Amino acid sequence: MSVTEDTETIRTLFWQQHGFLMSKIMFTACELGVFDLLLESGEPLSSGAIAERLGTSPSGTERLLEACVGLRLLRMERKDSEGLYGNTNLANLYLAKSSPKTQYHYLKHSSEVVYPGLQFLTDIVREGEGLFKKTHGMLPNSCFEAVYRTEEEVQRFSDAMDDAWNLYGREVMSAFNLSHFPLIYDLGGGSGALAKECVSLYPNCMVTVFDLPKVVERAKKQPMSSDKRQITFQEGDFFEDPVPEADLYILARTLHDWQDEKCVQLLTKLHQVCRPGGGVLVIEMLLNEDRCGPFETHLFSILMLVLTEGKERTASEYKALFTTAGFRDVQHKKGSHYGIILGRKQ
Ligand code: SAM
Repeated sequence: MSVTEDTETIRTLFWQQHGFLMSKIMFTACELGVFDLLLESGEPLSSGAIAERLGTSPSGTERLLEACVGLRLLRMERKDSEGLYGNTNLANLYLAKSSPKTQYHYLKHSSEVVYPGLQFLTDIVREGEGLFKKTHGMLPNSCFEAVYRTEEEVQRFSDAMDDAWNLYGREVMSAFNLSHFPLIYDLGGGSGALAKECVSLYPNCMVTVFDLPKVVERAKKQPMSSDKRQITFQEGDFFEDPVPEADLYILARTLHDWQDEKCVQLLTKLHQVCRPGGGVLVIEMLLNEDRCGPFETHLFSILMLVLTEGKERTASEYKALFTTAGFRDVQHKKGSHYGIILGRKQ
């Protein structure tokens, strides 16, 4: 290996070794409200002023802000030998809570649920069983029972899931023309964020969000604007309870929570109740057919290993699940982040 190659490799090693630090710095700045404060202030602030307004230590705050500059979450300009900090575009758009594109809630979930859970990755890989199997193994919905212990936890998870649709909701809902499906069920639809995208794109459709009782109870308490009257909620367990007849069933980031057998069980049930000509729309991150990348999907497959009993799959693997369940016409499209697969009933 030449000296340059060696230096490059050691650099790569360094960044990979310390990736967790970068995430935690980002989570901490979000949690403390650094980006919200700087967006609201409308002008750059000194480290001392930020510490005072956030009630944090001057020394810790200064180091956190400097690291955030390194991560390009903040920018710093010197004025009269004092450093003044402001948000970068990335922070204003995606990290400040009030931004319509915020990813704040997903970061909170990553920090409070995923990050602590990852410390068990070695054991999980050794034993092949996710984090919650041990603690909640006897319960049929073990991973969700574990995530939904309190109302706050239900809210935290629902909010975290919703953040993705601020970025990709329109794209995934418009990948296929869904205007021919007047009655839609969003199974495992959480608080209804994707349902909102759906009715705003297809004003003639009605969407019922079907989810576990704790989630629906919480979702019903959220204010829904009057133009979203086409959305209703229904409590239920899609494995245990009957699923009503409809033209289209959406399963967004839901099949990846389950093993193949459970996915086939659910898809078979939907094939039976689906109206002729109707279908099932699956939205998931997809692995390349040769299973080499995209790296983002491999990362999420690790998350699925830790937190659920499922995994990420290739488009062919999803198509095979559809076919086993009785669907013959299965098409898929690639979005910028998610794949969209539509299986139709003849
Ligand atoms: N579809 C939403 C999205 O993409 O934002 C949420 C995805 S989340 C990973 C999975 C959803 O499935 C959760 O809202 C969870 O409560 C729901 N869920 C899990 N098991 C369920 C079951 N047996 N019956 C109904 N919903 C269930």
